Parts: sequence; structure tokens; C-alpha cells
Amino acid sequence: MDETEIAVIGAGPHGLGATERLRAAGREVCVIGDPMSFWHTMPQGLWMRSRRNGSSIGEVTGPLSMEGYTEDTQAVVERHLSLETFIEYGHWYQQRVAPDVIRRQVVHLERTDAGFQLTFNDGTHLRAGRVLVAAGIAEFTRRPAMLRDLPSDLASHVADHGDYEPFRGKSVAIIGAGQSALESAALMHEGGVDVEVLARQPQVHYLHGDGLIDGLGRFSPLFYAPTDVGPIGISRLVATPEVFRRFPRPIFDVIAARAIRPAGASWLKPRLPNVPITPGAVVKSAVPNQGKLDLELSDGTRRRVDHLLFATGYDVDIRRYPFLDKTLADQVRCADGYPILKRGLESSVPRLHFLGAPAARSYGPVMRFVAGSWFSSKAVAKTVAAQDRRTPRRAPRHQAVA
Ligand SMILES: Cc1cc2nc3c(=O)[nH]c(=O)nc-3n(C[C@H](O)[C@H](O)[C@H](O)COP(=O)(O)OP(=O)(O)OC[C@H]3O[C@@H](n4cnc5c(N)ncnc54)[C@H](O)[C@@H]3O)c2cc1C
Repeated sequence: MDETEIAVIGAGPHGLGATERLRAAGREVCVIGDPMSFWHTMPQGLWMRSRRNGSSIGEVTGPLSMEGYTEDTQAVVERHLSLETFIEYGHWYQQRVAPDVIRRQVVHLERTDAGFQLTFNDGTHLRAGRVLVAAGIAEFTRRPAMLRDLPSDLASHVADHGDYEPFRGKSVAIIGAGQSALESAALMHEGGVDVEVLARQPQVHYLHGDGLIDGLGRFSPLFYAPTDVGPIGISRLVATPEVFRRFPRPIFDVIAARAIRPAGASWLKPRLPNVPITPGAVVKSAVPNQGKLDLELSDGTRRRVDHLLFATGYDVDIRRYPFLDKTLADQVRCADGYPILKRGLESSVPRLHFLGAPAARSYGPVMRFVAGSWFSSKAVAKTVAAQDRRTPRRAPRHQAVA
């Protein structure tokens, strides 16, 4: 059986960022997953909500940052970048740090006496002394009961669509008030869909544009962190995860919620003047009727639409990772589905770490974003080195191969 010191499950920004740091520190790492696969599932025509600096993997500046990418490839990357550009950058990064990525699925992860055992979809196994779970949020779509009860041709989650072309000429109501709802509405409207946004919130918010940050001139970095998460001021607080995690829980929760409250990027607003957006609207019932859906809203009004699209986001719950052994999942101390993580994003199971969105309850909202990979990669590498000084690693017997 193949064996490695560290297995990283996930080849997205967090998994790749950690792989780079650990390998640079001389660790033996196997990284498993389909590189940038989550990003390939997103609808064409999407733009990154995070700006250029906030979309760098593993580091904010340096040879592997967005800045390094543009220098190396001469690609023109403006302050705002398309999904396509980000995906190209992600693959460029992966080629440099992990050309040997194992393009298989982990179907089972269990604990053994010596560490962990991973089982792949082809039936082969890998033993690892330490595991980093950086498997993203794709398994965590929030599907309210109404969505689960309706047929899929009449209702779906935004995550179910990589293309809105099939909706051309149809009427669609979108539930939500965040980036995903508003950007889907813009893309659909531009693609010939008769679309309306139904927002539960009494008001739809947009993020501040570049003007406000630029207006601060050379003082801008003092109030606004390059991680690009949260409004001015709060952005700085949440950009120091090691400090932020020590905040009392009620304060932590309030700040974290404010940093990621549902809102659209400022550049979406000019794309939506002709799209009806109804705030304070809750869909009370949705009844199929001759191939369409009859909606009744909380304000007493009704709609008849071809499709109801739920832009209701994601609920982290690590027990929903299908590969996580039930016994192992039960051993991970959790709160509201999030693992409670110690230094180095390590869970209550020694040498089992969680990166990306599952780390957000312990380390704050930047963990949900690409920019958080700067912190997660550094923190894991530091903890691995510190633990190794206490318990020197054994020499690997076999090097696992892709
Ligand atoms: C529509 C949309 C727009 C977004 N826009 C932005 C943005 O502008 N800026 C931003 O910072 N964030 C954005 N996000 C958030 C984004 O999801 C995260 O920033 C990012 O995905 C975090 O990277 P990750 O490495 O944690 O996860 P992912 O990128 O999802 O990577 C997960 C990896 O795990 C692998 N994997 C999963 N399960 C297994 C398994 N069983 N075996 C092997 N491999 C597995 C996958 O193949 C993939 O390689 C957006 C999210 C959505 C839904």
C-alpha cells in the first residue's frame, strides 16, 4: 500500500496553497482531487466578487500570487477578474506546486493505529500520518424543504447550473439577496430570461465600490485589508485570523456575520436596473400547475413562473462529506456542523485538519474565501513543523505515485 507523511484531500485554492507551503518546508505531501473542479461547475460569464489581490492563492504578493502570475504569463488581469481568468490562474498555480496531483476521488477516510487510511474510487489505498481536508463546500448546498419537495424541472439550487442558456425565454423567480442571487439574475436577464429576485431581507445591499477604498489614498491599507472580506474597518479585524479567533464568541459571531452579510458586488448594480427585485418577500407556497409553478408570497401577491431558483447558499456540516468515516466524524468535536479547530486548523482528532469554509467558525470569515488560503497554508505548515520538533517524523517507506 502507498504511504505518505501528509495527504491533502482537495486541489482547490486551500488544498493547493497548503501543499505549496508544506512542500517548500520539505514535507512529503500527496494532494488528491480534481484541480479547481468547483470553479469549473460555476455558470459561465461569472466574475469574481473578490478583487485581484483577494483572489491570490496561498500568498498575497510573491511569485505565486496573482501578481506573480501576471508577470509570468503577461496576462492582463484588471482589478476585477472573470471566473475564466481565475480558473486559468488556479491551473497555472497547480502546475507549479502540484503537477503530480492525484486525480482521483477519496471515497473513504478512516483512522488507523498509525494514522489514517484513504480509499480511492478505484479501490486503491493510501496511508497517511496526517490528513488535511480541503474538500470545499460543494456537498453543503442549503436546500430548504420547499426545494426538496418540488420536481427538479420546476425548482433547483444555483449550484445545479453551469449554464443558464436552458432558461432563455422562460420566467424564473430567484430566492436570495446575496452575490449569487444577484449575479444569477444579471446573467439570466442578459441571456433573455424573464427574471425576478425575491429577497427575504427588507433591503438589498451592495458592497462599496473601488471609489471608497481609493478615496482613502495611502491610508487605505490601514482600514481595508487585501483579503477583501468585510467592510472598511471590519475587513482589518477579520484579516488577522489568529487574533480574531480569540474574540469572545458573541462578538466574533456578530463581526463574522457582518463581514459576509448577503450583498452584491457594486459592479452588479448597473446590470440590474431592469430586473425586478422584491425585498421583504418570503415564498409561502409553491404549487405545480400545468408545468409551471404558482407562488404565493408573504405580502399576499402571487406569481406564476416556469422555475424557482434557490440562491440560498451553503450550510457547512462536515458529516456531509461522503468520504468521512462515521466513527471518525463522531470523534471530531463540532459546533453547528463546523469542526472546532486548534492551532494549525487541527481538529480534536490529532493530525486531522480542516481547511477552507469548515474552518470559518474557529478562524473567521476569510476562511470561506480564496484569500484565506494565505493564512491556512501558513498556519498548517507552522504547526506541522512545531509538532515535528516534538515528535520527529519517521522516514517514509514508499512514495505514493499519481
Ligand atoms: C458562485 C460562487 C462564487 C464565488 N466567488 C468567490 C470569489 O469571488 N472569491 C472568493 O474568494 N471566493 C469565492 N467563492 C467561495 C469559494 O467557494 C471559495 O473561495 C473556494 O472554493 C475555497 O477553496 P477550497 O480549496 O476550500 O475549495 P474548492 O475550491 O471547492 O476545492 C475543493 C477541492 O476538493 C476536491 N474534492 C472534494 N471532494 C473530494 C474527494 N472526495 N476526493 C478528492 N477530492 C475532493 C475538489 O475536486 C476540489 O479540488 C465563491 C463561491 C461560489 C459558490
